Formats: sequence, structure tokens, C-alpha cells
Amino acid sequence: MKEVITGIYQLQLPLPFPTELRGYVNTYLIQGDNEYLLIDTGWNTEEAFDSLKKQLADIGIGFGDITQIVVTHRHPDHYGLAAKLKRFSQAKLAFHYLEKDFIKLRYKNVNEFIHQMEQWLYINEVPADEMSTLRATALGSKRLITPASPDVTFRGGETLSTGLFSFKVLWTPGHSVGHICLCEPAKKVLISGDHILPNITPNISLYPQSSSNPLGDYLNSLNALKQLEVNLILPGHENPFTGLQPRIEELIQHHKQRKSEILETLKAKPKTTYQISTEITWIPEMGGVSWQNLAPLDKRLAVLETLAHLESMRVDGKVDKFFRDGTIYYQPS
Ligand SMILES: [Zn+2]
Ligand SMILES: [Zn+2]
Repeated sequence: MKEVITGIYQLQLPLPFPTELRGYVNTYLIQGDNEYLLIDTGWNTEEAFDSLKKQLADIGIGFGDITQIVVTHRHPDHYGLAAKLKRFSQAKLAFHYLEKDFIKLRYKNVNEFIHQMEQWLYINEVPADEMSTLRATALGSKRLITPASPDVTFRGGETLSTGLFSFKVLWTPGHSVGHICLCEPAKKVLISGDHILPNITPNISLYPQSSSNPLGDYLNSLNALKQLEVNLILPGHENPFTGLQPRIEELIQHHKQRKSEILETLKAKPKTTYQISTEITWIPEMGGVSWQNLAPLDKRLAVLETLAHLESMRVDGKVDKFFRDGTIYYQPS
């Protein structure tokens, strides 16, 4: 637990599958006049719950002192514990309305979700053996979520006041369709969720339930944050950092580079998203990892990320797609 500025605490909660890049998830406790606001919740594990309880006790509060829980986006590391925390605190839960429908499908109707995802990977030529891990990982993360309905939904533009702080809700789609960031203009603080992290480039995936151009959305919402005057960024993973504009530039540059790498692979002949994914380099934060060395879950994310780039390039007029024998191919325009 660390008080990053007076009245805002960073609590690091353990992840069930920590990786070299993502060791923990941050939740932020915001002090109010007579109340506390919690941003993000951690995974639905005993370990994360106990860790949160202990860190709150170190500050001198209990779950009952939390009156509002805001979730930046629906991923299990940010939203997993929401249902349990609601029970223990009776806090009002709030997130963006676009996350609500997805949660219903993903966690209440998981077989339908898996079916849609399998069809999607199939038309993008992902072979059956690479797909078999999908079911296991999808069912695995279902166990780590108890879906909770929001008491309040945001559209973006709302103000969240605790008395001491006044946060503006910013809708920042891309990493997930209803992702939000929270900006405190007077204190010059931005809570960035997974939208902007200091070293990790957040995954941007295109799949049946995403928007039609998530990478386009992501780049637009990055550009929209450029004008914010903030001194401190509080991310969902890693540590608080400074320098919003340079980090936004780096992220934009990263996607530009990936797009030109993708275009390079298409020079010889049209290819499927799967073929392209196996030919480009992944995880630049770790110096670049080849397809063969990706974990099974990362392979699925990689294909969906390639697809997000291809669709963004198609919207920009750089590539075309066509169908042949039930499979989608891309070629330079
Ligand atoms: Zn996320
Ligand atoms: Zn995350």
C-alpha cells in the first residue's frame, strides 16, 4: 500500500497468473469527506480478497467504509471481485454501459461465447490444435468471475465527486469497448486503467463482440487524451508514472510500426490473419517474441490483435479483404 498523493492510495493485488510483465493489478482507494471510492477490484481469488482486506486495514478502514466501486473495464483482473465486494461493503457499483451486455454473454452464457469465438478464429484460418486451448482458458477465467450488475452506468462525461476529489469520467474505448479513464483536473491526476500503461502495450482485439474497428477507437481515444494537463498517471498495472504525452506518442508509434510490419508480410501474396500473425514479432516490451514462443492464450490474443490492425488498415484504405473457400484473406490495396 502506498499513498501516491494525499488521499489516493495505490493497493497492489496479486494475480492468479502473474507474468514477467504483469505482476499485479492496481486498485486505487480515493478518500472522500465521509466515504471512500475504490477504483477496480482485482481477481476473484481468496488471495486478492485477503490482500485487499489487509491493505485497507493498514489504512485504518474496512469494506464497510467503501461507498462506491468504479470499474475501469470488465476484464477479470479489474472487475473479478466486484460482486463479493458489493456484498461486503454495500457500495454502489458503477461502470460503462457498454461493458454490461458483454458481461452477460461472456460470463452467463459462456458456451455461446466460446462458440462465437471458435467460428471467428476458424474463418481466420486458426488451426484446430491452436483453438483447443480456447475452451479451457475461457472456462478457467469464468471461474474467476462472479458477474455483478452495475447500480450506476456511465456514458462518459459524468463527474464523480467524493468531496475531496472531483473526477471526470472519460470514455476511452479500444482495449475494451466500454473502457473508462478518470481525470482529476484540479489535482492533475489521471487514472488510466489498462488504456495507458508505462511499459506494456495494452492488447487491442477484434472479435465478434468488439466494436468494428477497436484499434481505430483506441488511437482516437489516445489522441483525445493528449490535451489533458496531468502530472501523474495511475495505471492498472506497473507503477504510477509521469509524461502522458510522450507515452501516448510511443503507443501510437508502436501501432504504426506493427501496421507496416503487417503490410510487409503481405507483399508476396494475400494472406490470412493467422498466417500474418505467425510471421510478425510479438511482445516488444520483452525485446520481441516469435510466434512459436508465445503461450497458447497469447496466441489467441495475437491473432485477434493482428485482426484489429488489419481492420484499421482496411478503414484507412491500406488493405482489402476477400473471401475464398470460407476463409478471409487480406491483400494490400
Ligand atoms: Zn484489461
Ligand atoms: Zn488489466
